Amino acid sequence: MLPKIERWIDQTILDFKDKRHSCDQFSSEFDGYYTKDFLFKSHFVVVDEIPKPTFPELYQAGLGDFVDMEVAGITYKDTYFVMAPYAMDLSLHFHELVHVHQWALLGPEVFIQRYITEIQTYGYNSAPLEVMAYSLQDQFMERTSPIDVSKYVQGEIEEAYRL
Ligand SMILES: [Zn+2]
Repeated sequence: MLPKIERWIDQTILDFKDKRHSCDQFSSEFDGYYTKDFLFKSHFVVVDEIPKPTFPELYQAGLGDFVDMEVAGITYKDTYFVMAPYAMDLSLHFHELVHVHQWALLGPEVFIQRYITEIQTYGYNSAPLEVMAYSLQDQFMERTSPIDVSKYVQGEIEEAYRL
């Protein structure tokens, strides 16, 4: 199922290629958290409906609730999708960009496998990859001193997954 999901993701990113915006427009807001280069290479698409794979295998794997869950944003590799009402929600952009780092650090295959296993084991709210993103998002919103997100995510992933 994993290669099928990855093919679907690649096709989806391709389908929205012309609607992608570079995240470099957030370089001043996210200064100290994300590098300019990383923001330049990350993209978002504003949509009316979040694209999600709806393969029967996902429902059979017990992921139906997650697939059907209404979300404001979702990240696939270096591109994330946000619902139109949240297009200017900085905190959501911040959250999804944590996932872009996770995708890059783990690699697509490992990320997809991990994410699915975490949803099955802990549920969405307690999935470690989500907890990490929400925790960094909270710290950003509290406006404490900036955190190097790349370094933070790398440290957390090494500790949790012993890569
Ligand atoms: Zn998330």
